[in-house]
Amino acid sequence: MLALRPSCECCDRDLPPDSRDAMICSFECTFCTDCVEGILKGRCPNCGGELVRRLIRPAEKLAKYPPSSQRVFKPEGCTAAPAA
Ligand SMILES: [Zn+2]
Ligand SMILES: [Zn+2]
Repeated sequence: MLALRPSCECCDRDLPPDSRDAMICSFECTFCTDCVEGILKGRCPNCGGELVRRLIRPAEKLAKYPPSSQRVFKPEGCTAAPAA
């Protein structure tokens, strides 16, 4: 099950479970589309993997399967993954 983290790791912007601006990698590192399309250039800065839009969990499922409340944030900021 997806963790549905509540925020962007780069800019700490809120990314609620119904946000279509949330992008994740296969490890569920979570970023907003602005960071992904801008500084990150489409790749996860932690693992170098692909970032895709996070799927929306239907609102009626969130009570039983709640999103993560643990914010992951890198205060030092993010940089693009090194070119492969
Ligand atoms: Zn961001
Ligand atoms: Zn990653």
